Formats: sequence, structure tokens, C-alpha cells
Amino acid sequence: MKEIVILGAGYAGLRALHRLQAEKGDFHITLVDRNSYHYEATDLHEVAAGTQPKEKITFEINDVVKSSMTTFVQATVERINREQREVTLSNGKTLHYDYLIVSLGFRSESFGIPGVEEYALQMVDIETAEKVYQHIVEQMRDYQQTKNPADLKIVVCGAGFTGIELLGSLSDARRHLASIAGVQPEELQYYCVEAVTRLLPMFNEKLADYGISHLKDWGVNFLTGKPIKEIKPDTVIYQDDKETGATKELTAKTIIWTTGVSGSKVMEVSEFKQRRGRVMVSPDLTDPDYPNVYIIGDVSAVMNDENQRPYPTTAQIALKMGEHAANNLLAQLNGSKGEKFTFQSQGSVASIGNTHAFGMVGTKDIKGYPASFVKKAIMDKALYATGGLKEMFAKGRFDLYH
Ligand code: NAD
Repeated sequence: MKEIVILGAGYAGLRALHRLQAEKGDFHITLVDRNSYHYEATDLHEVAAGTQPKEKITFEINDVVKSSMTTFVQATVERINREQREVTLSNGKTLHYDYLIVSLGFRSESFGIPGVEEYALQMVDIETAEKVYQHIVEQMRDYQQTKNPADLKIVVCGAGFTGIELLGSLSDARRHLASIAGVQPEELQYYCVEAVTRLLPMFNEKLADYGISHLKDWGVNFLTGKPIKEIKPDTVIYQDDKETGATKELTAKTIIWTTGVSGSKVMEVSEFKQRRGRVMVSPDLTDPDYPNVYIIGDVSAVMNDENQRPYPTTAQIALKMGEHAANNLLAQLNGSKGEKFTFQSQGSVASIGNTHAFGMVGTKDIKGYPASFVKKAIMDKALYATGGLKEMFAKGRFDLYH
């Protein structure tokens, strides 16, 4: 019997599991994740802003494991030894595999900027997203005693997809947070500091402007063309003048870092040929040096033939990779060759709060309430792809008509 090990129960890993479990064959699967639950990484900003409890965006991994063919091991992956076909876990155990699917996901990228790890809050998993919310609530409570305006100030570093969606949820939370501090909602100050001036380059300018202008209307102050140079305690230091390099400081008790991601550290530690934790894989999604190792999701980079650039890291592509890798692995088990991975984006939608969104479906622009409807349908589809009908009905977004 062949042993298949899947590392990581995110979008890519769970999608692969789902597909493999649908087949009967002479194989056993071991799934490893450091948590007992799967979380919807695209919705972390809602937990960070306190607009959704963690239960809404998580489900127990054991709920989707078919115990007749899969064993779930809760442990942290420390290292992969592709020569020996072994995975070392934090609990001291070693797993042996015939086939491996690496889907270990992302971590926050600091780009080596001083102070980021020490003084900025991250939002990369449930634990860190909950910490962000607890931290904000603490500052609001502190304000009652200190009356220090910095307690009411929140800075989001980076206006990418994540930063924008977080600012949308924070805008939804404004009234609630203000009530904890005992102030008027408009007394809370939200800032976003961003290096470039053309925001959200994945959308056309009209769509990007739509999203940004809504956030501005809701009181978000954007500082654009201002690369962050350093984070000090309660202070963001950004370059204010490109010519002279002069810097300015912004003081706030809550500083959240969302300037991009890289793939899991395990890729570097295990000496994969990687850049920022991502491995340029073969067209069939395998490691160029090890055809029994599939690398998918945020640890993987696949070249898009159309523009000769790797595809972006999104949940949509991670799900597609999960399914494709499982199909190729099944083909390999039957002695046939896997197929080349191709991806046609179905569009992309960014939410700004619970009832607004903007983006594209296919090549068509959508915005406002209809876009919010589509966004929720996308979230439900992802839940179905990883958790099946049960999780979709339990955790899906069906508040579409509010
Ligand atoms: P990102 O790369 O999309 O955006 C990061 C932003 O931070 C950029 O605008 C960048 O210019 C800015 N930045 C970088 N360094 C900076 C600095 N020193 N100072 C100020 N600004 C700086 O990263 P993300 O938002 O974390 O998203 C990561 C990936 O996940 C992306 O590929 C994104 O498309 C994807 N994502 C998708 C969805 C979705 O499809 N719903 C949601 C969230 C994230």
C-alpha cells in the first residue's frame, strides 16, 4: 500500500484530500496540520476586526477526514527530507511517504524592515487575528483611563488586498469599538500607509478608486507613496519625501502589518529551491527534482504562459492546484503521466465590509451590493470545496438579502 502524506490543511491541502478521498485505491493518506481546525484565510480580517467570531471561519479537520483511508496528525512540520522521503514533526515523530503533497501556506513578509516583528501585529492565522482584535479592545478600554488619542488610532501597513479588506471590516466595527472606548465613532482614527500611489493594481483604476473612495468616505486616511522604513514601539516611520529621503512618524497604539506574504519557512529550512518560500514547480505541479513531491498553494509558484509571470497566490488558485495535484497523483499511481496545470481566473472580488465589495467576474466589473453578493457566493464555494456540503451549510454566508 502506498503512503501519501499531505502537509497543511489549508485550501490547497484540503482540496487535494477531498479529491483523493473520493477515490478507492491501494493507498493510505496521512494529513498533518498544526491546528485541529481548518480556517478560511481570506476571512481573517473579520476575526481581527471582531465582526465575525473565529467559529464562523473555521471547522474541525476531523469533520472532513474519512477515517477508513486517512489519518489526521496534529503537529507542526519542522523539516522535509526528500532524499529519505521523510517528514520530521515537532512531536519528535518522523513520517515516511511514497508521495508527498506540500501545502504549508503563507507567513507574513517583513522585507527585513526593522521593528516589524517586534512592534507590529500580524494577521496570518486565527491566533494572530484574534490577538489583533483583543489588542484593539484593550486600547479602547485603556482610553477610558488615559484619554490618550493614540489609543484610538489604528494604522494598517500596506493597502493590498488584505489591508483593504481589513479596513473595510474595521469600518464596520467602528461604532462597536467606539462604544467600548466611550467616544463618538468619528473619534476613532484609521490610517493606511502604503508604498505605492497606484493602489490595487490587480483591478482597473475605476474599480480601485471605487473601493478606496468608499473607505475614505468612511473616514480612513490614506498615506500613499510612503514606504514604511521602520516600526518602533507605537510608531510607524515612513519615507515622506522620495527626493530627500526625509521621514515622518505616525503614532498609534495599534499597528497592523499587511504588506504581503511569503511561503512557509519549512521550504527554506528543507533546502527546496525557493524564493520567499515559493518553489517554481514543474508544469504538473511537482518538484522539478522529485516527481513524487507535489508543491501547491502559497508555497508554489507556477508560470503563467500568457505573461511569463507566476500566477498570484490566491485561494482560488490554491483550490484549483489541490484538485489538479490529486488528479495527477492518482494518474501517477496508475502508471500514467500527470497533466500540465492551467488556470483561468474566474475573477476576483474584494470586500469592504459586510455589504460592499468590488471586483471582476470574468472580465465584467461589479461593485456595490451585487459584488458583495458574489463575494459571499465565492466564500461559500470555497467552503464547499474544502469542507463539502456539511461545512458550507454550517458556516456559509447566506445573509445575502440583508
Ligand atoms: P499584497 O502584495 O497584495 O499587498 C501588499 C501591499 O503592501 C502592496 O500594496 C505594497 O505596495 C504594500 N507595501 C509593501 N511594502 C511596503 C512598505 N514597506 N511600506 C508600505 N507599503 C508597503 O499582499 P496582501 O494584501 O498581504 O495579499 C497577499 C496575497 O494574497 C496577494 O496575492 C493577494 O492577492 C492575495 N489575497 C487575495 C484575497 C482574495 O482573493 N480575496 C484576499 C487577501 C489576499
